[in-house]
Amino acid sequence: MHNLDRVTENLNTFDLLVLGGGSAGYAAARTAKELGKKVAVVDGGSELSGLCILRGCMPSKTLIYSAEVLHLAQKGSLFGFHGEKPVANLAAMQKRKREVIKEFSDYRKEQLEDGRFFLFREHGSFVDSHTISLTDGRLLRAEKFLISTGSVVQRPNLPGLLDCPYKTSDDVLDLDYLPEECIVLGGGVVACELAQFLSRVGCKVTQLQRSEHILKGFSSKASTVVEQAFCSEGIDLKTGVSLQSFEPLTDDQIRVDFEQNGKPHSLITRFLFNALGRKPATAELGLETTELECLASGHIGTNPYQQTNLPHIYAAGDCAGPHEIVHVAIRQGETAAKHAFGLSVVPLEYDHLLTVVFTDPQVARVGLSVEQMMQRGIDPVSASYPFDDHGKSILMEAKWGYVAVHADRSSGRILGAECVSKDAGELIHSLSVAVALGATPSDLLKADWYHPTLSEIWTYPLEDLAEELATNCT
Ligand SMILES: Cc1cc2nc3c(=O)[nH]c(=O)nc-3n(C[C@H](O)[C@H](O)[C@H](O)COP(=O)(O)OP(=O)(O)OC[C@H]3O[C@@H](n4cnc5c(N)ncnc54)[C@H](O)[C@@H]3O)c2cc1C
Repeated sequence: MHNLDRVTENLNTFDLLVLGGGSAGYAAARTAKELGKKVAVVDGGSELSGLCILRGCMPSKTLIYSAEVLHLAQKGSLFGFHGEKPVANLAAMQKRKREVIKEFSDYRKEQLEDGRFFLFREHGSFVDSHTISLTDGRLLRAEKFLISTGSVVQRPNLPGLLDCPYKTSDDVLDLDYLPEECIVLGGGVVACELAQFLSRVGCKVTQLQRSEHILKGFSSKASTVVEQAFCSEGIDLKTGVSLQSFEPLTDDQIRVDFEQNGKPHSLITRFLFNALGRKPATAELGLETTELECLASGHIGTNPYQQTNLPHIYAAGDCAGPHEIVHVAIRQGETAAKHAFGLSVVPLEYDHLLTVVFTDPQVARVGLSVEQMMQRGIDPVSASYPFDDHGKSILMEAKWGYVAVHADRSSGRILGAECVSKDAGELIHSLSVAVALGATPSDLLKADWYHPTLSEIWTYPLEDLAEELATNCT
């Protein structure tokens, strides 16, 4: 039994209680504090800082960048220099990663511990819709709540999988030795980014993907370029695979049975990487003690202000979805805090959504795809241009990919763009600005585009579109 009398007199009157101090939670806590509110942050993670800093974006991109540098160095003869072919030293890469991450993590901890918030380093769960119980038995109450507990690795109930000693992205990001080979299950963003990392540091990678293309949610044209690049680097990518069963053979060997094109296959691995996705971390929040509604996906349902069906409870970040990426989590957290305390805020919508996949070539898209435009009855006009015909990418030997721009034929406004290339994650931002501001191709062509840069490639489809849209108007 929880004893409400144990709620410390001066702690039971928070304006906002944030459950989970990652990207979404910190953004909400900071925003509420700036509004002069009394804020509690409850985080029970073994380390403070959240997924992005500890086991997500930052460690993965640190290691992926190391692998990219290694890959370039290994191609040295192409650029006119010789020498022994460099090889990966996983322990050294880990050391660098730990140092980099510690810096980010120390900074975030400092922000959470600098006295602006009442910080509770415990797990919390609802005992009723107005009370959170901490693992040490304390009870906390607040006027408003924000649930921002993030996500956990999905453990799909495939026959035998849960009996096998499989690895997750956490393990891959902590690798300080080089596995000789591995099987990667899945073809999503994390699966692809880390499959290529493992391959580039010298591991023989077999990647098993259920659908015909990797990177669901991106155009098949984009996925195809990445698939070709993967194959050219020696990744054995098998698509159209149906996983059948898994069996631990010895202490460290696992048999994977699957079908491809209706034929049975079997592989044995010492390193099985389960990259089949993540799910919202809501199972242990005591939500059953509230009347809070979750969606079929397991996400906590919210309106565009991140408010749940219980008006004093908000949810943001991976536990709310629908896009599990950091800038969305931050924007959701800020929106929730402002709305909770009566500020006028723009409801969140995702028509300008920006997404990046850190494979090489990178894949980046912003706004609407041609299919989405047509579903909405918009008449699309598109133009694209390949990097294998562009000066800067040719001189850099970075010829994979293309840029594509999609506009609304009637208004002329750019509604979406896609870029597959080296550093596509950087290149997409000029088009992200265009989409957000409702610019037309002619608007963008008023800007200078420096030569020779990768960015100037955008001018080719923009010129084509400007011409086609001008013809429409005449
Ligand atoms: C390998 C990998 C790479 C990624 N790369 C990118 C990328 O390049 N770009 C990008 O935008 N996104 C990336 N992501 C996704 C991104 O990391 C997440 O979308 C983001 O970190 C989610 O933030 P959040 O605040 O929702 O959750 P989190 O940061 O996970 O925060 C949740 C917090 O809640 C705490 N918590 C959980 N339950 C409780 C409880 N009951 N009580 C108290 N505290 C609790 C946890 O300890 C944690 O600190 C990546 C993810 C992975 C796994």
